[in-house]
Amino acid sequence: MRYHLTMENELSALRHSTEHVLMQAMESLYPSIVKAMGPATEEGFYFDFDLNKKISEEDFPKIEGEMRKIINKDLPITSKELSIQEARNLFKNNPYKQEWLDEIEQAGQRPTVYYTGNEFVDLCKGPHIKSTGEIKAFKLLSVAGAYWRGNEKNKMLTRVYGTAFRTKADLDKYLTVLEEAKKRDHRKLGQDLDLYSFHPEAPGDIFWHPNGYTIMKELFQYWREIHKREDYVEVRTPEILTRKAWDQSGHTSFFIEKMYRVLSPDAKEWDMAIKPMNCDGGILIYKSHLRSYKEFPLRMGELGVVHRFESSGEVHGIMRPREFTQDDAHIYCTPNQVKDELKKVVDLCFEVYEVFGLKLDHLELSTRPKRSIGSEEVWKRAESIMKQVLKEKKVPHQINVGEGAFYGPKFDFHLKDAIGRTWQCSTIQLDFAQPENFQLEYVTEKGTKERPVMIHRVLYGSVERFLGILIEHFAGAFPAWLSPTQVTIIPISERQNNYAKALKMKILKHKMRVWADLRNETMQNKIRNAQMQKVPYMLIIGGKEEKAKTVSIKLRNGESHNNISLTEFTKKVQEIIKEKSLKLW
Ligand SMILES: [Zn+2]
Ligand SMILES: [Zn+2]
Repeated sequence: MRYHLTMENELSALRHSTEHVLMQAMESLYPSIVKAMGPATEEGFYFDFDLNKKISEEDFPKIEGEMRKIINKDLPITSKELSIQEARNLFKNNPYKQEWLDEIEQAGQRPTVYYTGNEFVDLCKGPHIKSTGEIKAFKLLSVAGAYWRGNEKNKMLTRVYGTAFRTKADLDKYLTVLEEAKKRDHRKLGQDLDLYSFHPEAPGDIFWHPNGYTIMKELFQYWREIHKREDYVEVRTPEILTRKAWDQSGHTSFFIEKMYRVLSPDAKEWDMAIKPMNCDGGILIYKSHLRSYKEFPLRMGELGVVHRFESSGEVHGIMRPREFTQDDAHIYCTPNQVKDELKKVVDLCFEVYEVFGLKLDHLELSTRPKRSIGSEEVWKRAESIMKQVLKEKKVPHQINVGEGAFYGPKFDFHLKDAIGRTWQCSTIQLDFAQPENFQLEYVTEKGTKERPVMIHRVLYGSVERFLGILIEHFAGAFPAWLSPTQVTIIPISERQNNYAKALKMKILKHKMRVWADLRNETMQNKIRNAQMQKVPYMLIIGGKEEKAKTVSIKLRNGESHNNISLTEFTKKVQEIIKEKSLKLW
């Protein structure tokens, strides 16, 4: 989640300085504290420390009060370069700082320290603001445990999270979003709406319940529809490939720590691995026969299930599971076709975002890193094509110089959700490496053989993660076409149960997901339950409706429409579902 994009460096200096004030405040409150580390982050800052006392959120007012005293003194923040030995003496009782100093020494650098007045000092690269008085709006947020340097083998430290903004208004806005985000947390809603669960029998992997899998299937189906229209073909490649294949694509050297290795029953050491990406399998299909320029652009899609062994600290609900589905496609084309293909993918991305009411915040173009393959000329041409696409599409963007993958430049799309948070979803990546690694060829118009250009792209990214974003974006109130239950029929009394059953059968024929709530509960309870499940349409039926052969409709948003014939209802709602409308009525 990113909150601010502009003036990031300045904000980061402010936050890092606030973190120094936090350290200073805690040192004066808890003299035995040993400070370990603390950076500014995209949303604030945190401070890791070693202390033989438990800190909880109840201590925050006291700590914040101490911080305010330091801020009010408006102490200057100044830097000083030291020799390694001077720094070692300064932090002689701090094993964490000694470890940092080991690294600085090994890198042949000189350590810098930052003083706050002459009351506090820390080993730090900076940059910082000029004095503590510049801190106008800050807040401590939460406390958690954190292993020293994120390694489970190290000591567990305490981490305090906080944030700081330039103005009180900015801080308040952030806190409101944070509050709203808590209510929308996909882990909470996933449980409330019975979408999925996790079990220790498959750590980090998702068990999709009927409700959640219904939405996943709708996402797949929509994806298939638009890709068919855009002239893609769909393939399916094996889950497990040989070690040799992963050697060839370079995964065993670049990605092995995240790969599940497999031992064939007749092998002595691992000889196969579960795919962490779909590229290898797709490439083998490409190579299954000699390709011609006449087949280009060849757009080959795969809803491929991949496995990556994320550490337990990285696993995060369905946003970052270990097993997930990439809505992958590889486009093989000639150099002259690249620009058009990129533009088409960009358009497709925009079409998808609009359907979900997500807006593009900005696009990032990452260019050639220092260590890369492919000639200077090839990179230059690719980057200039990508820049032209940005210009022609007139999208807000930023260029991350030198941050592309070693095998090619890429586009990343950052989307804005309903509460203003941004998420990275789609990526489009040019690849100069794999066509070379796998000796891909095609026959040109002149009859010669050339390497094709290969584009990797995902629209949703990870479909599971995309659904996680949608859960939070819609706060669980999905548009009708995605809702696990679209219609709940609620009889006023059990005398209408038969009419309810008959209605259900009729609505099923219209291929809607309908449930008749015939439980032995009061009508009010049934309505409350449907509202909690965020069902878009409730049909309330009593004796009057049964007699007139009509329904009374209660929408999720509280709106009512009475005396509607079933035909009128199904016609209208079918249209809404077909159009994937964000409106309910
Ligand atoms: Zn610092
Ligand atoms: Zn790929």
